[in-house]
Amino acid sequence: PRQFFVGGNFKMNPASREAKRTLIKTLNDAALDPSVGAQITFRFLTVYLTYVPAVWGMKDVKVAAQNCYVKLSGAFTGEISPSQLADAGIPYVVLGHSERRTLFHESSELVAQKTRVALDNGLSVILCVGETLSEREAEKTKEVVEKQLEPVTQQLKEADWQKIVIAYEPVWAIGTGKVASSAQAQQAHADIRAFLVKAVSPAVAESTRIIYGGSVTASNCKELATQKDLDGFLVGGASLKPEFVDIINATK
Ligand code: 13P
Repeated sequence: PRQFFVGGNFKMNPASREAKRTLIKTLNDAALDPSVGAQITFRFLTVYLTYVPAVWGMKDVKVAAQNCYVKLSGAFTGEISPSQLADAGIPYVVLGHSERRTLFHESSELVAQKTRVALDNGLSVILCVGETLSEREAEKTKEVVEKQLEPVTQQLKEADWQKIVIAYEPVWAIGTGKVASSAQAQQAHADIRAFLVKAVSPAVAESTRIIYGGSVTASNCKELATQKDLDGFLVGGASLKPEFVDIINATK
């Protein structure tokens, strides 16, 4: 069985150190589902990445960077290297978020290269894919998502897929309050799993976690969590609120 995985994405939201401390306290005080416990990640801004675990003292939660570069060192002002993240004790990095693809023009090829370099340097990767509204309306969801995944599966056939979590995040659902229906999510997740059977192997397809992101809340997470191919959540807005606890406990 695939272990449920929940991530919170702070993005560049102006949560102060104090706000983070409050959230940390909420999580520390809450009764979190122990089966999910070790599989919670939080993505903080780089400046907070090492600060937060230090004040946090929370063994069940890991932190993730929101991006990294393809090079390990050199004159790349403003970028952060995967080996530096690993050296600083950051175990996860999120790659290919739609905001990176759209606002910063990251191609699927670049995202695949970053994924390879991150894995080679000891990081685990949360790899995001998803279609826009017009692509969904044109019934191109499967095609678009497969095109986003293809460079990754081509480069990483031999990789340790236990270290990759795929996040299906339909762009139209991110930050809009329009969550995918559980049928829509299940279909997309099943299509991704079927793609992994062909593109990597049946064993990898069976064991890889595919999590859903896009307007997940305490009230819609339970039904989504019942879907066969849905192995967790990536949560933006609601991860800043106490209801994040309910989302972590969605399978309870
Ligand atoms: P929301 O939960 O705010 O829709 O954001 C989802 C997301 O982008 C997680 O990476």
